[in-house]
Amino acid sequence: MKNLILTLATTACIALPAMAEEKKIEITGNDAMQFSTKAIEVTAGDKVVLTLKHIGKLPKLSMGHNFVLLKSDAKVMDFAVVAMKATTTEYIPAEDPGKSMVITHTKVVGGGESDTITFDAPAAGTYPYLCSFPGHFSLMQGVLTVKAK
Ligand code: ZN
Repeated sequence: MKNLILTLATTACIALPAMAEEKKIEITGNDAMQFSTKAIEVTAGDKVVLTLKHIGKLPKLSMGHNFVLLKSDAKVMDFAVVAMKATTTEYIPAEDPGKSMVITHTKVVGGGESDTITFDAPAAGTYPYLCSFPGHFSLMQGVLTVKAK
């Protein structure tokens, strides 16, 4: 009987109309200034639910991490240089140069903390991401690839 109910429930789920695919991504940062992945892949139109988790122990003042997704044509180093001066806005420039390079970002987290953001995957292409905490971008960066649907 239990099996029958499960089968019916599964069938009912399949029958639901297609919705934007939700894509859950977890990326971690540690006390050694490293992201757990340097490559993320999603599909255009995905609803991306991204969680940045700091698995280290150091506080955010000395080893803070964030996840900043930049536009495809933005250069990580150009952004990082202006972002590190944005000390009052958690290393996200409040104006240009810098501001308009950002697609989305998490807040800065310290050891044991996490932050989750939701965004729609942009058009097919490649998008650089980094941690904009001063001095981290050279190790903490990667590329988000959006595949065409
Ligand atoms: Zn960092």
